[in-house]
Amino acid sequence: MVGENTCVSDPVTPSPTRRTASSAEWFQRAHRVTPGGVNSPVRAFNAVGGTPRFMASGLGAWLRDVDGNEYVDLICSWGPLLMGHAHPDVQAAVLDAVTRGTSYGTPTRPEVELAEEIVARTPVEKVRLVSSGTEATMSAIRLARGFTGRELIVKFAGCYHGHVDSLLAEAGSGLATHAVPGTPGVPAASTEATLVLPYNDRAAVEAVFAERGSEIACLITEASPGNMGVVPPEPGFNQFLSETCARHGALFVSDEVMTGFRVSRQGQWGLDGADEGWRPDLVTFGKVMGGGFPAAAFGGRADVMGLLSPDGPVYQAGTLSGNPVATTAGLATLRLATDEVYAGIDQAAGVLAAAAGEALTRAGVPHVVQAGGNMFSVFLGLDGTVRDFADASRQDTDAYRAFFHAMLDQGVYLPPSAYEAWFLSAAHDDRALQHVIDALPAAAQAAAKVVS
Ligand SMILES: *Cc1c(COP(=O)(O)O)cnc(C)c1O
Repeated sequence: MVGENTCVSDPVTPSPTRRTASSAEWFQRAHRVTPGGVNSPVRAFNAVGGTPRFMASGLGAWLRDVDGNEYVDLICSWGPLLMGHAHPDVQAAVLDAVTRGTSYGTPTRPEVELAEEIVARTPVEKVRLVSSGTEATMSAIRLARGFTGRELIVKFAGCYHGHVDSLLAEAGSGLATHAVPGTPGVPAASTEATLVLPYNDRAAVEAVFAERGSEIACLITEASPGNMGVVPPEPGFNQFLSETCARHGALFVSDEVMTGFRVSRQGQWGLDGADEGWRPDLVTFGKVMGGGFPAAAFGGRADVMGLLSPDGPVYQAGTLSGNPVATTAGLATLRLATDEVYAGIDQAAGVLAAAAGEALTRAGVPHVVQAGGNMFSVFLGLDGTVRDFADASRQDTDAYRAFFHAMLDQGVYLPPSAYEAWFLSAAHDDRALQHVIDALPAAAQAAAKVVS
């Protein structure tokens, strides 16, 4: 018998009909006390339907749910688990840290070591630790406004930067007009100073800076978007953004919460920034740097970071910022994340992306597979290239729903939304990859039945 807290030790090929009684029961209980039964909306499966699986344990590339079903995990906690679940070194470091207490509200050694590791790997000169990516982008924007004395911010449609009021904005009626709130609860005043542009669109960026450049505090962009599916920057696009910002005295804020320490040792900047010669003024990090715990950061130019409290007048603080357990987990993860680890994940991602494409082609499903480093995603019902959010929005989400559930039934946990990246870890070995590859043809056929 499989106990609820048993770790996956010897994953067996799951039976095609999966039990969900226990997950369903927990979901009902959760609904009684939590809106939608979840603590982050995408987990509720609203985009794909069906019963969200309550996970009981994870080991390496595998998840086990409360009904005892096992899955190859292709979300890796939405990015953070670069080394896979329950890596023994990360686990040992965390257990060791916890025995000494969990939080002191004072400076500690691991937070300095984690900051040193971040500064050594990336173009930032100084870094401030926070607890979530949302906090990181919110603080970076405050700092950019404080530094420039300007209020306008520019973002791209389809780029997600956490649930910061001013960034939950949708394009207004025309370019260079203020954005409108993307959700109830955000006051119009919070998005009035936000301009929303189509991604990969140089002309739109040029037009907005030509008209309002002297009022723009910063442009924030995902370094390589993964929150509208994977829509990588066209070659030179980040460099163009960086130069445009510099020309107008605005700061270039590169959001590497998803890509940082995931697509390379140095994040997306390591893939195109170093070559193209651009340098962000501010960078936000999260996900991998917390090693599965809540830790995030923003950093950048020393002169800009110098304005931050207590050195400067721009206020920012956090009770659990730099938490010793979270920073220990992040540090242990980053220390394991060598060039070989990235090379292995890159290779595995290439294999899976190709296998997915091949299965869909064989089943006659129109599709686009796009990769940004080792993150990739599949857009069903489309041809050509997905350059921006408008393109991504034309995908066939009903076909994805069928594809998702066919994979889930065969023991593969894909992102429960078509607008998300697929994530691998260093623990995705040949056996895990083969399990996914074997499941793809049936899922492609399921998608073929509904694709329009
Ligand atoms: C996940 C994410 C965030 C928000 O991070 P949270 O820790 O969920 O608040 C911000 N930016 C990007 C690019 C992300 O992928």
